[in-house]
Amino acid sequence: TCGICVEKCPFDAIEIINLPSELSEDPVHRYGENAFSLYGLPVPEPGSVTGILGPNGIGKSTAVHALAGELTPNLGRHGDEPDWEAVIDRFRGTELQTYLETLREGSISVARKPQYVDQIPKQFDGNTRDLLEHTDERGALDELIDRLNIRPVMDQDIDSISGGELQRVAIAACLARDADFYFLDEITPYLDIGQRMTAARLIRELAEDDDRSMLVVEHDLAILDLLADTLHVAYGEPGAYGVITDPKSVRNGINEYLEGYLDNENMRIRPDSITFEEHAPRVSSKETALVEYPDLRKSYGEGEFSLEVEGGTIYESEVLGIVGPNGIGKSTLAKLFAGSLEPDEGSLEFALDIAYKPQYIEIDQPIRVDAFLSSITDRVGTSYWNTEIAEPLQLGRIMEQNLTDLSGGERQRVAIAACLSEDADLYVLDEPSAHLDVEQRVQATSAIRRYAENHDATVLVIDHDIYVVDLLADRLMVFDGEPADHGHATPPQEMRAGMNDFLANLDITFRRDERTGRPRINKPESQKDREQKRTGEYYYTA
Ligand code: ADP
Ligand code: ADP
Ligand code: MG
Repeated sequence: TCGICVEKCPFDAIEIINLPSELSEDPVHRYGENAFSLYGLPVPEPGSVTGILGPNGIGKSTAVHALAGELTPNLGRHGDEPDWEAVIDRFRGTELQTYLETLREGSISVARKPQYVDQIPKQFDGNTRDLLEHTDERGALDELIDRLNIRPVMDQDIDSISGGELQRVAIAACLARDADFYFLDEITPYLDIGQRMTAARLIRELAEDDDRSMLVVEHDLAILDLLADTLHVAYGEPGAYGVITDPKSVRNGINEYLEGYLDNENMRIRPDSITFEEHAPRVSSKETALVEYPDLRKSYGEGEFSLEVEGGTIYESEVLGIVGPNGIGKSTLAKLFAGSLEPDEGSLEFALDIAYKPQYIEIDQPIRVDAFLSSITDRVGTSYWNTEIAEPLQLGRIMEQNLTDLSGGERQRVAIAACLSEDADLYVLDEPSAHLDVEQRVQATSAIRRYAENHDATVLVIDHDIYVVDLLADRLMVFDGEPADHGHATPPQEMRAGMNDFLANLDITFRRDERTGRPRINKPESQKDREQKRTGEYYYTA
């Protein structure tokens, strides 16, 4: 045992550094003997956006089932008939009391957006219009369709639209409902920064202008920061138990989560802190060219999307970040380098051997993770492979599972591992952060960097999470243009120039949090925002 419990530790919680005081009380809900237990509940509040920050498997959905009235919490007494009166008694005098009383009267309606939008086509037959048709309960659907830019895919079959389109359709379907309580489980996967900001704004407006209660789980910290009014941190042992803290201010909640120490609770939730050292932009020192490429043009046909690429050099063993909106030609460029597409103008003498992790991962073979990875490399299971790949990507617990049974975040980690396990000239990772929680992002990011450094591998990473890009990249390639119409790619640039170029297109500036150094989006027109735009420093102020 960890020495704190008098009796045998019920959670095998040897790794816990302090036992949370919550754990000496009964849980809010326990699924059964030795099954997952949830401690604490988030507090939805009309007119405000409540965020939850924490790993997957920690009980967020369980909490939402309870707040939606779909699960009556059993207060840990899983033999007994659950009883709302007892639950209300438990929360009497807390901020949840009123909410739970309204819930008992049966007068709370809930709209939700599921976490894994990729599952929607498996459950729904028809086009976007059919899907959205029945959701228009507030008369707001038309506006949502326009602002989320869904109109172009209204008549397309749901199983033919991209992940980013599916995400926006799912957000629209949720927000179009007339509910008291909206729950959105991750809004950012597959969306570019502009789309993320639009979704965040729509959620805020529904809270502020319409007095609805919004609850959002989100792992993109810059977006969470913009989106939420208050924040609950969720921690514990995924699969065993989870604790949802009392609400904190968003800034403190994020900082305490990153530091791994919760101030009010006097609780360490992780041995190490996650730091975003305010570093000066990386200055690239690589100089051996892997490829030099000329100006390129590629069009998919008359009146179709066209891409213009300014010639440049990719250095050996650099990590090149690729940023830009969706639909602007990033994947098209990857295909040109891979030789699976021919440019219309400019010729590529080489065809590089590319290991490619696509944005949307479809690994649906009914085989085990270990068998799948062993089919790519014979290094699986060596101590080297374990240290470099399996550990940072947390594959240990899922190696024996079937690919088809994995959650979105687990699939993502397997796909990154599969890509890095190949022998290639160039590794291309398209949105590796999607569906990873904050710790997994940081670990996956350092695994990719370390891999590049130890193998002199050259890596192109497309990602929309600015923290991930900053942590990972040596240089940046910036795409701009008009999505779905034409795109333009700059040559690889130094980080400072690239970030400024990219963020000027988006009209966003970042400052650094004083306590943790993490980048935060400035309020538009704030003093810092105007000052940074005037000096042209959108990101690195150090
Ligand atoms: P999150 O939303 O944070 O990912 P969930 O609330 O979905 O977490 O799940 C928390 C834990 O509870 C998981 O280990 C899950 O397997 C377990 N769990 C979820 N539903 C049930 C159930 N009906 N019976 C038993 N265990 C469950
Ligand atoms: P990104 O990776 O930046 O999201 P893509 O390179 O995938 O962008 O696509 C750019 C544009 O080209 C999109 O509008 C997409 O619909 C279009 N496109 C991609 N592949 C084809 C194709 N084979 N035929 C016609 N249009 C295509
Ligand atoms: Mg793409």
